[in-house]
Amino acid sequence: DPAAQWELVEEYLDSRVVQPDAAAKAIVASTGAAGLPPIEVSAAQGKLLMLLARISGARRILEIGTLGGFSTAWLARALPDGGELVTCEYEPRHAEVARANLAAAGLLDRVTIRIGAALDTLPDLVDEDPFDLFFIDADKVNNPAYVDWALRLSRPGSVIVVDNVVRGGSVVDPEGDEAVQGTRAALDILGSHPRLEGTALQTVGRKGWDGFALALVLDLPGVQGR
Ligand code: SAM
Repeated sequence: DPAAQWELVEEYLDSRVVQPDAAAKAIVASTGAAGLPPIEVSAAQGKLLMLLARISGARRILEIGTLGGFSTAWLARALPDGGELVTCEYEPRHAEVARANLAAAGLLDRVTIRIGAALDTLPDLVDEDPFDLFFIDADKVNNPAYVDWALRLSRPGSVIVVDNVVRGGSVVDPEGDEAVQGTRAALDILGSHPRLEGTALQTVGRKGWDGFALALVLDLPGVQGR
């Protein structure tokens, strides 16, 4: 059974190299205990986000889709003093659980949670400084709009990560559901926009078969947005 082997390998890699600490494990536990769905990123992916933020020197991070704050915490931990993370969450209950989790992890001082549909709250951010890193992980149907917003709120050198782009392989189905449609449209933007250089990777593990896309915002004078 390959899926059982994927899980064993994930446990092995977690124990040898990812090594999520007690604070990270506590967020997963309390998110589950609060009745929120177990749809946060894996520890390995959370740590990848943290490392990407550090490698890119991110000081301002924008996340779309907070849930209980698990990916938020990995990203917030990467911030230098004075750094800020804004995270958008539709469900007030999820935001409340995330706030408690981030407070317990000592990270709430650098996190702003914006409650509401992200497409309603993102326009408020145009007057702020650009963001250095984006993590898009909310309602997949709006992924193309979120990539557009990331472009608008970015600077050359910003990094954009889009989660769940493989969806058990269903991403190849042109007639797929609305999440597949949103994902395919977002991948088309990442692959064709003149200001973006992107890639996408398949992943396997405890949560099955999925993947994420990663793009760099290029310096292209005169080309803004789409
Ligand atoms: N990034 C989180 C993590 O890895 O720990 C997981 C996020 S979960 C996959 C997706 C979240 O997006 C849910 O909490 C859901 O309520 C939220 N969401 C759904 N539609 C949204 C919208 N229109 N605007 C903002 N958040 C939304």
